[in-house]
Formats: sequence, C-alpha cells, structure tokens
Amino acid sequence: MAEEKKSLNFIEQIIEEDLKLGLNLDKLRFRFPPEPNGYLHIGHAASICLNFGLGIKYNAPVNLRFDDTNPTKEEQEYVDAIKNDIKWLGFEWTNELYSSDYFQQLYDWAILLIKKDKAYVDNQTSAQIAEQKGTPTKVGTDSPNRNRSIDDNLELFEKMKNGDLKEGSHVLRAKISMTANNMLMRDPIIYRILYEKHHRTGNDWNIYPMYDWTHGESDYIEQVSHSLCTLEFNPHRELYNWFLKQVYSGEDLKPKQREFARRNLSYTVMSKRKLLQLVEEGFVKGWDDPRMPTISGLRRRGYTAKSIRDFSNTAGIAKRDNVTDIALLEFHIKNELNKTAPRVMAVLYPVKLVITNYPENKEEILIAENNPEDENSGTREIPFSRVLYIEKEDFRGQANKKFFRLKLDKEVRLKNAYIIKANAVVKDENGEITEIHCTYDEESKSGSGSEASKRKVKGTIHWVSVKHAVKAEVRLYDRLFTEEAPDAHKEKDFKEFINSESLKVIDNAFIEPSLKTAQIRDQFQFQRLGYFNVDDDSKKDKMVFNRTVPLRDSWAKQNK
Ligand code: ATP
Ligand code: MG
Repeated sequence: MAEEKKSLNFIEQIIEEDLKLGLNLDKLRFRFPPEPNGYLHIGHAASICLNFGLGIKYNAPVNLRFDDTNPTKEEQEYVDAIKNDIKWLGFEWTNELYSSDYFQQLYDWAILLIKKDKAYVDNQTSAQIAEQKGTPTKVGTDSPNRNRSIDDNLELFEKMKNGDLKEGSHVLRAKISMTANNMLMRDPIIYRILYEKHHRTGNDWNIYPMYDWTHGESDYIEQVSHSLCTLEFNPHRELYNWFLKQVYSGEDLKPKQREFARRNLSYTVMSKRKLLQLVEEGFVKGWDDPRMPTISGLRRRGYTAKSIRDFSNTAGIAKRDNVTDIALLEFHIKNELNKTAPRVMAVLYPVKLVITNYPENKEEILIAENNPEDENSGTREIPFSRVLYIEKEDFRGQANKKFFRLKLDKEVRLKNAYIIKANAVVKDENGEITEIHCTYDEESKSGSGSEASKRKVKGTIHWVSVKHAVKAEVRLYDRLFTEEAPDAHKEKDFKEFINSESLKVIDNAFIEPSLKTAQIRDQFQFQRLGYFNVDDDSKKDKMVFNRTVPLRDSWAKQNK
C-alpha cells in the first residue's frame, strides 16, 4: 500500500536524524494509542496514517494500544469499533495492547517513586489542591502533606489500592516542584481512587493511574522509539521525560515524544466528547450517521478507505495548528469515484415528459456505457418509452440564453437517447406543471451513427422511463455545521451552529431499473447529480441511497 509521497515530513526528518545519530533501524517502533471512549474520526485517520505509514516505510512494528485508564468513559463497544475502523482503513497492527495490562507494573513503579521520596499521598480536597497550584504567573505553594514520611505514604497508598478509603479523598502526587514554570510539573496527580468497573480488569483495581503517568511508561514498556501525539501535549513533554527518568534502567531505549498539529476539518467538530453529545442528544442518528466526521459515518456515506488515506497524506503532517478545507476530502472521493463508479440515471424531483410522436405501446432498450472513464466497465440496458420523468428544474417555460436545458420550442438531448423539442405544458389548477409535451427526432438516437445523431444541441438532460422506473428514497447531506470552525467561539456552544438542513430526505425519487440489483454500499454516479451509494437502511422493496458528494460544489458558491 505504498502511497505516493513527495518530500519527508518533519516527523520523518526527526527519525532520519535519529538514525544518522546512531539509532538502530531495528529499534524503530511506533504506536497508535486511542482511548476507547468513542468512535474514531477523520482526525484520528491523520495519526493512523502517520504511525502505520511510518511502520510500513521503515518496516517497523506498530502497536495498537488502547489507552484505557478511565473506566467511567470507556467501553468494549468502542474497542471493537476502533479495531474495525483501523482494519477497514487498510492497516495492520503488530500487537493489540492495553494500558490496563500494565496496571500492576505502573503500581509497582509508583511504590518505587514513593520509596525514592518522589511521590506522596495527599488527602486535601481537589479545590485545595487546585488553589495551591498557582497560576502561570504565580508560583504554587506546597501541600501540607508534601513531607509525609515514606512509610506513611506507603501505608496510605496501600489503603487507597485496597479500597479502604473514600473515592476522591486521597490522591498520589509526584513530588517535583510547586514553583516550576511549567504548571504541569507542579506535583501532578498520578493516581486517584475510583470505584468503577473497568471494561477489562473488572473490579480488580480501586485506583487508576492518570494519563501522563501511564502514557510514557507504557511507551517505555513497549519500547516505542517515537511517541507521536498532538500539539497540546507539547507542555507535557517535560513531565513525560521526568517520569521516564525515574524508572529508566539505563540500558534500554528511552522513548521520545514528538508533537504534530491536530487535523481540524472545516464545518465540523472533531472531539469525541463533542461527537458523543451529538449522538446522545439526538442531533444525529448515531456514530455512523453519514453526516458525522467519524470513520464509520464517512464509510456509510460512501467514502472509501483509499480516499481517506489519500486525503490524510495530501493534507500532511503540520507543525502548527490549521484547518483543512473539507473540499479537499471531497476532491479525493470524487477523484476516485469518477474512475470507479458506474453511471446511472435517477430523477430526484420528477415531472412527466410525454413524447407525443412516440408510439403509445412502444418500448426500446437503449445501450449505455457504464463508465466512460473505464473502458473495461462494459455497458448496461436502459428501457425507453413514451412517458419519462425528468428533473423539474431541467425545464423552464421561458428562460434566457444561458439556460441550456429544456425550454419551449427548443431542443435538448435526452442522455443516451434522442433529441427532443418541447412544445407545450399541462398545468394543474394551481398552475403547477404536471406534464411537458414534446416531440422527438426519430433519427437522432445516440450512437446510431446517423447524421441526425451527430447533430449538436446545447444541452443534455437525464431521465427515467415512467413505466420502468423504481421509486426510491434519496438522502441528501449538507455540512453538519453552518460555521467553518463551530467550536472556535468562546461565548457560544458549538451546537448553536448546527445546520438544521444538513439532511434532506427525498422519498419519491425515481431510479433506472438496472439499480434493482444494487447491494448495500454499492456506489454509483447519478449522472449530472453526484455520487451516491446504497445505504444500510435499504430494503429490496424500498431502496435508500445516500449522496456521498455532489458532482459540483454548489455549496461554496451559494455561501460566498
Ligand atoms: P478526542 O479529543 O477526539 O477524543 P483524543 O486525542 O482524546 O481526541 P485519543 O483517542 O486519545 O483521542 O487519540 C488517539 C491518538 O490520535 C492520539 O495520539 C491523538 O493525539 C491522535 N488524534 C486525536 N485527534 C486527532 C486529530 N484531530 N488529528 C490528529 N491526531 C489526532
Ligand atoms: Mg484523549
């Protein structure tokens, strides 16, 4: 799966530098460390493509490590979904590991810290601890418990572990410095009491290690050479190194944390916590709602693994925070589906077109190419008859010269079929057009080779034969948010920017009969409309399609 790459990104440059300085190639090792507290999103794909991509490039192991130290938010469902998504994206991990596998080792090391007088038990309230922390411009103050004796600390920590103390009453803190410039170094908490069932260790533990203590030590246990995380962890690096120093044997590899910018995508939010709110508060139908920026949502919508990998690689790895335009993601899926998706015809907003000079009971089978971009894609049969559906908006009684679709007394070509000319309209009592009457040029059949078939007319429109059409539901999606960066507003909640029209359901669209045999997730180009796939909700007698992406980005134009 070697995808094309131009120059080295800055992470690769760091690795190359380390290799030059003497790091053995076979010491390279990476990990992808999701917390199983939600489904993976397109931001995670950046980290997945980076870490697994490095594994492929350097032929190095990449572990999948679940960072499962917070049993209040973590679930097996998320573990399963994460594994499924990574596999679907096309990557294989070397080992499936869990931070919870290291709970005993982390505990033993915590005892070591206490014995070295580098950790102490604090039984102040969390408010008191926060108060003493100081601010970036004001140093903190020592806890009155900071100089508890090693023996007392050992005894209290044992009690914390055994479940003899109340939740929230005691914590274990690293003894670093309350005057450090970096606030994270001001005696950070490394263990808390939590009476919560863990999805893997059950009720074995009454204390749980904090992220910073767990992450670096897990990297060390696994001998990860480069621990790559997002920029907000940059201030944590000092602590990461301090913790490592305390347990380092002096012989084996000392992992290195390096940070890259988070992937942000315009018109959506990326944090699992926020995505969970959208699910739980019913703004979307689930984690795999096709409007979600989750891998499962994008997959259901018709995004392919390749399009997500291509997007991730093109958007690249940056040193500074930035927002990637969602149009780049759409570009990659359009580019791929243009080459692979069979063309079909579907009418979303139907109006009847009657060809008055076409015999009443005549039916023809027309032959059309499946995909002009792929010469091996073959052809399909499309039935044609006297009464067709066309798109309402492809006809106007009167229109200016720039309207190249159907208008009275003018000609257009029916895609894959004949040239027609509109002559009259039938309206109902409200003035709505119910039928358009036209005549066709019998000699003008597409592909017949006749002179008339080569005649140039300005417009081509799509259609389906009423008698043969299959009724279907079509779901059109728009941006989930009306703002480019919905969570960048300090005063307003991101949910205030939800686009109330992000889903439009058309329940009486008509599709050509060749689509009857389409299977769930099959993908098509509905000619002139966009790329669509068969949704998971689709049934034999009620097919449902999702619009993956329109052919043209009408949205950008409307909103500029
Ligand atoms: P979230 O806020 O969405 O829950 P997270 O960082 O808490 O994100 P984790 O499950 O801890 O999610 O992330 C696993 C890995 O993926 C981490 O290394 C993290 O840095 C990386 N990651 C998460 N979100 C992004 C993103 N938007 N862009 C790039 N990498 C990301
Ligand atoms: Mg996290």
